[in-house]
Amino acid sequence: PVHMQKQGWIEVICGGMFSGKSEELIRRVRRARIAKQRVSVFKPAIDDRYHSEAIASHNGELMEAQPVQRAEEILDAVSADCQVVAIDEVQFFDGVIVEVCQRLADQGMRVICAGLDQDFRGRPFGPTPTLLAVAEFVTKLQAICVRCGGPASRTQRIVDGRPVREDDPVIRVGASEQYEARCRHCHEVLR
Ligand code: ADP
Ligand code: ZN
Repeated sequence: PVHMQKQGWIEVICGGMFSGKSEELIRRVRRARIAKQRVSVFKPAIDDRYHSEAIASHNGELMEAQPVQRAEEILDAVSADCQVVAIDEVQFFDGVIVEVCQRLADQGMRVICAGLDQDFRGRPFGPTPTLLAVAEFVTKLQAICVRCGGPASRTQRIVDGRPVREDDPVIRVGASEQYEARCRHCHEVLR
C-alpha cells in the first residue's frame, strides 16, 4: 500500500447517570486487554464515591483506575508504548482534558472517554460537549426513567426529598443527596 493507515482516535461514551457509561467503558477496556493491547485507565481524583483507585459501575463491576488531580497529569502517566487510554467521569476535568485527548489520539492512541453530557439542570456539562465535537466516535446511552420507564437522558438531583434549585452548585460528589435517572419530561428543576 502507498499510504500507511495511522492509528489513533477519540471515542466518547456519554449519557446521564445509570445509563451504563462505566459498564461500557469497562467492557471496551476488557476487550482491548483480551486483544493484548497495553491499556491505561484514569479517573479524576475528585470522584471517590466508591473506591479511590477503581471505576465502579452501578451493577457492581470494578476496574482499576489511576486517580489524577489534573488532566495534564495523564500525559506524564501514559507510557510511550501505551495503545489504549480510558478516562472515566471526564466531565469533572477542565477544558485541558480536550487537548490531552487530542494529543494522545494524534500520537496514535485509541482514547476512550466516558462522562455525563448534561448536568443536573439539563445543561451541557464541562468539557464533554467539546469532546463530543472533536471525537471520531460517539455513543450516547439512555438509562430507564424511574418515573415513566421512558429513555432517561437526564439526571435528577434530589436534596432533602425535593428537586434541586436552578442555582445549586453543579458538582457535589459523595454528598447525601440522591440522583435518579429521568427522561426529559419527568426531569424537574426548581426556579
Ligand atoms: P453510569 O456510569 O452511566 O452511571 P453504570 O454503568 O455505573 O452507569 O450503571 C449502569 C447500571 O445501573 C445498569 O446496568 C443497571 O444495573 C443499573 N441501574 C440502576 N438504575 C437504573 C436505571 N434507572 N436505568 C438503567 N440502569 C439502572
Ligand atoms: Zn419519564
